Amino acid sequence: MASPDRPQQPDASRTAAAAAAAAGEGHEVAAPGTGSRALLPPTERFATRTAGMTASEIRALFAVASRPEVVSLAGGMPNLAALPLQSLASEVADLVDVDGMTALQYGSAQGVPQLREQICEVMREEGIEGDPNDVVVTVGSQMALDLLTRIFVDPGDVVLAEGPSYVGALGSFAAYQARVVHVAMDEHGLVPALLHEALDALDRQGITPKFLYTIPNFHNPAGVTLAHERRPQILDLCRRYGVMVIEDNPYGMLGFTGETHPALRSYDADVIYLGSFSKTFASGLRVGWALVPPLVRDRLVLAAESATLCPPSFTQMLVSRYLSHHDWRSQIKTFSENYRERRDAMIAALETYLPEGCSWTVPDGGFFVWLTVPEGVDTKAMLPRAVTARVAYASGTGFYADGFGSRQIRLSFCYPTPERIAEGVRRLAAVLEAELDV
Ligand code: PMP
Repeated sequence: MASPDRPQQPDASRTAAAAAAAAGEGHEVAAPGTGSRALLPPTERFATRTAGMTASEIRALFAVASRPEVVSLAGGMPNLAALPLQSLASEVADLVDVDGMTALQYGSAQGVPQLREQICEVMREEGIEGDPNDVVVTVGSQMALDLLTRIFVDPGDVVLAEGPSYVGALGSFAAYQARVVHVAMDEHGLVPALLHEALDALDRQGITPKFLYTIPNFHNPAGVTLAHERRPQILDLCRRYGVMVIEDNPYGMLGFTGETHPALRSYDADVIYLGSFSKTFASGLRVGWALVPPLVRDRLVLAAESATLCPPSFTQMLVSRYLSHHDWRSQIKTFSENYRERRDAMIAALETYLPEGCSWTVPDGGFFVWLTVPEGVDTKAMLPRAVTARVAYASGTGFYADGFGSRQIRLSFCYPTPERIAEGVRRLAAVLEAELDV
């Protein structure tokens, strides 16, 4: 007898039912074992955890925002114009010529050993002494975030994150059914007194958050940097309440002032640190990493293995060659100079055009300005009108797990030219003026 679980040969009736289902016509599901079952629509099969997976507002915007007539201040695409494509092309050719058999083969689940050593050299720039054995290379730091959430978070667990926070992290937290508790920032980043309050309130309910997820430098989306004196204070609080810390630092080397900010990981080797080559080299290569305590490493590698077997050998080896043969420090400086020029253009335009009652952060690095608009304006509702006026932005609501942020906007200055940025802000100001006139 045919088992209902075993794949069966298609026959005419099943094929017809599937076609009807695909066409959106009704279909009937026969009792198990009767031999003529229709495929259930997948919506009835999804795991409950997928209920938390919603399209990021930013990704949803992508199609409209990328129309050429629209100035997009919405996305966070790195500006790659300064990359030395010619020499990268010969690096790629050389990689295939010399190391093709390794570069095109599976590799270690933890990542290419030589690259892990070089990653430690990169992290030393921010005061971190890491052991290559504790580095896990991932497909962008996004994957590290997702895997860490997978290995630490059970449904309903509390995770602390700044309010607002990185939309991709919120996506992973939602996918694993975490409960996100936001802690507010001011212009100097996460506020220790508010973190203390949140930890205390949770403690009184008998809740220990699984971890604090924080972006200390050039925050996405808030554009602020955690004051140095707050760094040990935050770590002290987390130690006191027994809360792990995940430090996400993809923008740390893209500062505009020459000042370096000590990583939280440089104070305490138990901090989990996430880094990425997406902003300092090329996001399309999808090479990021986690530096983790040995106790976390083994589980993380197992999780990585089950997700991808191993990160791509080819792009890891390309990054490794790039770090060996190119002056990556000066390349990062060039990137930073480009971004600083764009930041200046954005701040100047905000000062020139925006109506009274708006305020914004002035970032010392990274990609983003966080704008607060006058009371009565709903930035999510206003977005279609902005797109009609040929400017796109990311509404603040996408950066909170709890619907907050409707008076906020994230503006990215990383990608458009300074002239386009000025024009985009001018258009945005006109939309805001019209909104306030109503
Ligand atoms: N963390 C933050 C704060 C980010 O802004 C991003 C990318 N926008 C990431 C992590 C993920 O970067 P990637 O996966 O490209 O390394």
